[in-house]
Amino acid sequence: MLSIQNLNVNYGESRVLHDVSMDVADGSVVCLMGRNGVGKTTLLKSIMGILKARGGHVTFGGADMTTRPPNVRAQSGIGYVPQGRGIFPYLTVYENLLMGLEAFGSKKRDMSGIDRVYGTFPVLKEMAGRTAGALSGGQQQQLAIGRALVRHPKLLVLDEPTEGVQPSIMHEIENVIASLRDDGGMAILLVEQFLDFALRVGDRYYVMETGRIVSQGSMAEFSDDVAREYLAV
Ligand code: ADP
Repeated sequence: MLSIQNLNVNYGESRVLHDVSMDVADGSVVCLMGRNGVGKTTLLKSIMGILKARGGHVTFGGADMTTRPPNVRAQSGIGYVPQGRGIFPYLTVYENLLMGLEAFGSKKRDMSGIDRVYGTFPVLKEMAGRTAGALSGGQQQQLAIGRALVRHPKLLVLDEPTEGVQPSIMHEIENVIASLRDDGGMAILLVEQFLDFALRVGDRYYVMETGRIVSQGSMAEFSDDVAREYLAV
C-alpha cells in the first residue's frame, strides 16, 4: 500500500532523514518508534507532502506520490492526524468534521463519512453542536481522528494519538485502530511513545535513531535490547 524508498529530507542544509525505507502493507498497523527528536514527525510530514524530500520516493497504491502536494495525497486516500491534532477550537464538532470533507476542495460532498465517524465515536454525535475547544483532550483526539476518517481513507497516518489522553480513551483509540484494520481493512501508520500501547496495536515496528531506521520487524523480532537502546523505556 505505502512504500518509502531511500527518503532523504533536510531542514535547510541540515539532513534530518537519511535513506529511510519503509513499507506499510494493506490492512496492517505499523508503529514508528524512537526517542524525541529522531525524525518521526518529519517522516510523517514527508509522507504527506508537507515537507519536500531531497531524494527518494513515496509510493502509495502503486502511484508515485513524490512530487504530489498534500491535497492530492489526501484525495488519493491518505488520512492524516498531526501532532497536536490540528482541530479548529472555535468551530463545532460537526463543522470540524465538515472541514475534513472540504479542506481539500472536493466538490462532491460525501456525507456518509460523517455518519460513519459518528458510529465509530458516538461521543462526537452527542457533542456535534459543541465547540471543539470545549471538549476534553481525549474527545479532541477522537475528533481529530474522526476528521481524518470522513473521506474513507485507505491509509490512516497518526502522529502520537495517545498524547494527552486518559487511559480510558487510550483504550477506545486502541479498539478503533483494531476495528479499522480488521473490519475496514485499513492500513495504519502511527508514531507512538507508549511502548505498551504500541505492542498491543502494532503488527510491525520500525525504530528510528537520528534520522535512520535502526530496527524493524514483528513483535517477536522486536527485542528487549532494541527497546532498551533506542526507546525511552
Ligand atoms: P520526533 O518526531 O522524532 O520527535 P522531529 O521529526 O520532530 O522528531 O524532529 C527531528 C529533528 O529535526 C530534531 O532534531 C528537530 O529539532 C529538528 N526539527 C524539527 N522541525 C524542525 C524545523 N521546522 N526546522 C528545523 N529543524 C527542525
